[in-house]
Amino acid sequence: MIDGYYAVDYHMHSIRSHDGKATIPQQCMRAIEIGLDEICFTEHKDFNPDDPVVDHFDYSLYADEIASARELYGDKLTIRMGVELDYQSWFEDLIGEYLVSHAFDLLVSSVHHTRDGMVMSSKYIQGRDARDCYRRYFQEVIRSAQSGYADVIGHLEYANRRGVGIFGAYVPEEYEDMLRELFSIMIAKGIALEINTAGLRQGIDMTYPCEKTVSLYASCGGKLLNIGSDAHKTDDLGANYITAVDIALRNGLNEVCVWENRKPRGVKLKRVSS
Ligand SMILES: [Zn+2]
Ligand SMILES: [Zn+2]
Repeated sequence: MIDGYYAVDYHMHSIRSHDGKATIPQQCMRAIEIGLDEICFTEHKDFNPDDPVVDHFDYSLYADEIASARELYGDKLTIRMGVELDYQSWFEDLIGEYLVSHAFDLLVSSVHHTRDGMVMSSKYIQGRDARDCYRRYFQEVIRSAQSGYADVIGHLEYANRRGVGIFGAYVPEEYEDMLRELFSIMIAKGIALEINTAGLRQGIDMTYPCEKTVSLYASCGGKLLNIGSDAHKTDDLGANYITAVDIALRNGLNEVCVWENRKPRGVKLKRVSS
């Protein structure tokens, strides 16, 4: 049970994502059970025509299921309808066209691929050292922030998911120039940083991004913060929420964002009695 703070999960999936394992009602019921106040579904939307899962996401089915979930659970839980865009800069035109006719409460822009392939895959790392691999990843994240199709940067430093196992401990200071560039774009454009707790379940003992990078964001003047578990099944919903809140508060980020029609509102992260 999550007690003590207004509790949100702003990065989570259902079977409207190709790799989701729970239905929208199942995730809503679980959210109520564990004491979440607000959730935002962020289903994968892919754009690469060669990706076998590119057609999985069905907007009208998703919108219908969100509408009925709001009818069923809306008195106990605020339910937002977001999307996790699989950002690949060379498909930016397709992303722009798609968003003209498909509305969401939140656009999570996530880099899983660069032109060199899936981040930290064997093809991606071939012939490259750690520095080159990480810099190529960050360059694509910077493009995603510049694109106009990001309300929040999803799981920053996701390259660590495989990168730590391949190259050893991650040293954020080596990429501080790129992180500063990214944060200055985000702050100018009103893009939020996400603390994504999935890394804590993936054996690397750090959030995406790591706490040092959250601290750098705050020291650059970043204020907008999202928190999400990246749950693909009910068991992971809201996972390590308090850990993420503690990281935020330790670094002077005192509010978590909630979103409606792509507009953020800050909710104070102060203890509330249950
Ligand atoms: Zn992702
Ligand atoms: Zn996700």
